[in-house]
Amino acid sequence: MRFPPSPVCPKCLSAAQSWKQASGKATLESWGDFHRAYLGGFNDALPYRVCLVRLEEGPLLVSNLVGESATAKLGAAVRVVFEKATDDITLPKFVLARAVVWRVPWPTGCSTGARPAVRKFHHEDTKNTKATACASRKAE
Ligand SMILES: [Zn+2]
Repeated sequence: MRFPPSPVCPKCLSAAQSWKQASGKATLESWGDFHRAYLGGFNDALPYRVCLVRLEEGPLLVSNLVGESATAKLGAAVRVVFEKATDDITLPKFVLARAVVWRVPWPTGCSTGARPAVRKFHHEDTKNTKATACASRKAE
């Protein structure tokens, strides 16, 4: 798989190629904040965050890191979101695919006073959504 697309393969010059849908998952390779608009069309977007991501399929892609990204780290998992720029143009941008912390409610009937366990689950981990309550309850 290669990107950006071109009329022929840059290695063998073959024109035989097809489009494949990517997963939308990527890894954050770099990012920077733009405080100056080098092109007038970006005046209203300032400041904005440009990122370099490596798609799960391999190619590198320059895009924007959008949404809450104050905790961005090199190698962070990101996922694509699509932003409609015009009726004809939709841009792939990326958001952090960070873990969500589910805070377990204080277990009723727990007399030990132990703090309930807090576990982290990945955004896309829909199968493992069981939270662990106070470990001492198992002994009861
Ligand atoms: Zn080739």
